[in-house]
Amino acid sequence: MTDRIRCAVGAPGADPSRARPLATSILRLIWDEEFISRADIARRLDVSRSTVSDIVDALLPTGLVAEAGVGASSGGRRPIVLAFQYQAFSLLGVDIGASHVSVVLTDLQGRVRAWQHQSFPVHADPDGTRRLVTTLCDACLGMVDLTASPLLGIGVALPSPVDPRYPDKVSPRAMVRWEGRHGLEPLITRYGVPVLLDNDANLGALAEHWWGAARGLSDFTFIKIATGIGAGHFIGGRIYRGAGGVAGEIGHVTIDVHGNPCICGNRGCLTTYVGSQELVEHARTLLPEYPESSLADAPLTYSALEAAAGADDPLALRVVTEAAEHIGTVVAGMLNLLNPAAVILGGSLPGLREQVLVPIRESVMRRTFTSAVASSDIQTSALGERGIAIGAATLVLDALLQDPKSLITLRAS
Ligand SMILES: [Zn+2]
Repeated sequence: MTDRIRCAVGAPGADPSRARPLATSILRLIWDEEFISRADIARRLDVSRSTVSDIVDALLPTGLVAEAGVGASSGGRRPIVLAFQYQAFSLLGVDIGASHVSVVLTDLQGRVRAWQHQSFPVHADPDGTRRLVTTLCDACLGMVDLTASPLLGIGVALPSPVDPRYPDKVSPRAMVRWEGRHGLEPLITRYGVPVLLDNDANLGALAEHWWGAARGLSDFTFIKIATGIGAGHFIGGRIYRGAGGVAGEIGHVTIDVHGNPCICGNRGCLTTYVGSQELVEHARTLLPEYPESSLADAPLTYSALEAAAGADDPLALRVVTEAAEHIGTVVAGMLNLLNPAAVILGGSLPGLREQVLVPIRESVMRRTFTSAVASSDIQTSALGERGIAIGAATLVLDALLQDPKSLITLRAS
């Protein structure tokens, strides 16, 4: 069972410095094209037709590829067309946030077939979170007919760094009360499929790379801004994890060494300025200065703050603008350091779009070399609140396309 739970290190995004195995390249080409003949594959990849035929013969029993009639002739015999079977399997993507659990069920083309979302105190209640994960997975599986599209695997996004060397562990600082373990191994026996894990911001980046604003980009950063803040970096076409899997923890970049204490043990981290709870507390502190604010009339929650900012309430706008400026400070440092082609903002705060983007861009412009700014596109995610769960499902798709037999065998074992 132990080999069925893992951090999919190396799986998200192919390593361009390492040649893909030919079988992987052929499968990915059929996935990309949907319909293609063996002869066209041979031409596109510059290999012999017999080699292609041997590999395709090995792929056909996986159910991922099927023969779908004959295509147009280019002079000789009409070729048999191969078709990728996007409905051959279903994938579950689980997004465990600090204060919610979301589950998405997709096909092999990223299409959402079922979706479940529930607010939940994840930090405070590990056992309840684990139960909720299975409840929402069951609900998604109950919404579709799995007869022709059986479940192949589950991807899980965690609000914690995930060290590929210790895939069963989570950071006790990032996931308080979880005692350093996610404890999701029972998903393997319950559903009889492999479970792949990664950090939530990394999977937000993976989703953007496959389906969102970063398609075709090999160097970009995804920033999740919610209860906490974290970043997933794509560098050279693959997720950059660092030596211990904690790269991208920009929420703990220091804004003010004399600032408020942070869960990481330091003071004045970015998270202490822009986390959901911190924004609510900041609004509460400023409320006496804004007696006309709509926030004075109802319980002050993050949702109320978000709605008020969307309605241009002066207090809410001040809180959001100040948060955006702090984010801009850290993004500027990152741009100067890494020079990504794009910075994509996901999570809850960026749902406000222009109210957040404008002050972030202004803050960045004041702090970066012109060349780094000019080439970086700062925008919000188009995938919305489902993005990270979709990224979790994509983790399984990515692993499948790289090594289909391994994943299908794990499912069957
Ligand atoms: Zn911190």
